[in-house]
Amino acid sequence: MTSPKPSILIIGAGLSGATLAERYASAGAQVLVLDKRPHLAGNCYDHLDQSTGIRVSNYGAHLFHTNSQEVWDYVQTFAKWTPYEHRVLVKVGEQLLNLPINLNAVNKFFGVELKNAAEMRAFLAKKTRAIKKVQSSQDYVLSVIGKELYEAIFENYTQKQWALDPSELDAAVIKRNPVRFNRDNRYFTDRYQALPVGGFENLVGQMLNHQNITLQLETDFFTWRTKHDLSQFDKIFYTGAIDQYFDYAFGHLEYRSLDFHFERHEQEFYQEAGAVNYPSLDYPFTRIVEYKHFYPPTKKIQATIISKEFPTWDGEPYYPVPRARNHQLLQKYQQAAKKLEPEGIYFLGRLGTYRYINMDQAIAEALQLFTKLNKK
Ligand SMILES: Cc1cc2nc3c(=O)[nH]c(=O)nc-3n(C[C@H](O)[C@H](O)[C@H](O)COP(=O)(O)OP(=O)(O)OC[C@H]3O[C@@H](n4cnc5c(N)ncnc54)[C@H](O)[C@@H]3O)c2cc1C
Repeated sequence: MTSPKPSILIIGAGLSGATLAERYASAGAQVLVLDKRPHLAGNCYDHLDQSTGIRVSNYGAHLFHTNSQEVWDYVQTFAKWTPYEHRVLVKVGEQLLNLPINLNAVNKFFGVELKNAAEMRAFLAKKTRAIKKVQSSQDYVLSVIGKELYEAIFENYTQKQWALDPSELDAAVIKRNPVRFNRDNRYFTDRYQALPVGGFENLVGQMLNHQNITLQLETDFFTWRTKHDLSQFDKIFYTGAIDQYFDYAFGHLEYRSLDFHFERHEQEFYQEAGAVNYPSLDYPFTRIVEYKHFYPPTKKIQATIISKEFPTWDGEPYYPVPRARNHQLLQKYQQAAKKLEPEGIYFLGRLGTYRYINMDQAIAEALQLFTKLNKK
């Protein structure tokens, strides 16, 4: 007996593609998922380092956090979760300060003993300047915490990470982790913060583990489509780069990438927190991530794995660069993509929409799209 033809084609086995695949498969559709990489889970992919038993992310640290009850309930179906609250420090001279900047960080940096939000506001008010229309990251930082912290933490970091002056970078980038007027040292404040047992490798594996789903890895859609008839599919969901789909007709959208240099160190821990940022130009990397903090091994071991992150323009497209040139190009691509919807072709996910989205957003948007397209 031949198997029924798939009616849904999904390009990309990351969280966006996997969520739609799972929803359609569970609703009875036949789903074909293609991914050009040799593994599933997209950028969330991680693996267990065999020599230490430490779980390591291949494309940068991935920490799950959400305020969405719907997303939280959904991900419970596929894996057990272990609580994890992320902490990030920033190295300024010999000091390690909390990120986001909070009452503790301001006290340490300025050597003061402010006690509460009111005192912190009054203290910073003397250092900041009012900016009528906050547009850039520079505007935001200068207007909220002032020049000294801006220069110590944000100015060079932005140059290193984005190769842009903070005055050119949208305020939205820095506002993802706004300044806090309390002592909350956590990086995220979401209601649910956890990691899937067995990693994102297992989570996405379980999502795609359905008899109606066929997964084809190491398959580039653009090569594959030269040999296959797309009209056999009722719907196509594309989570690859939107400009590539249109053969860069309006120009290339810019992405910042990262080179990860992994190192093993023979000591229990390398640093105090899961991530330490290095804004100073004395260091060529921006951040050191230590994976052991995320899934601590059950047995004490004198070994740990870190990765140093070196920003670059080449390599995997990680961060859409939020500046005017790219916004204008994106609008053109969005208009072209919209015209394909009547043919049943949809763009989603971080590459398909050219937006930095967190994992919970990727899942939420895929769930919403499924609901919208399948309203009775
Ligand atoms: C360095 C870094 C750290 C991050 N950390 C966090 C974090 O801590 N917490 C958080 O919530 N989010 C984090 N994110 C965001 C998170 O990675 C995304 O939310 C998530 O990956 C989005 O899933 P996606 O399926 O939309 O995209 P992706 O994971 O990128 O999946 C897209 C898939 O499509 C495939 N593909 C592309 N083109 C083709 C083609 N032509 N043919 C076939 N396949 C193709 C790709 O190979 C890829 O597997 C981070 C992102 C980065 C870059």
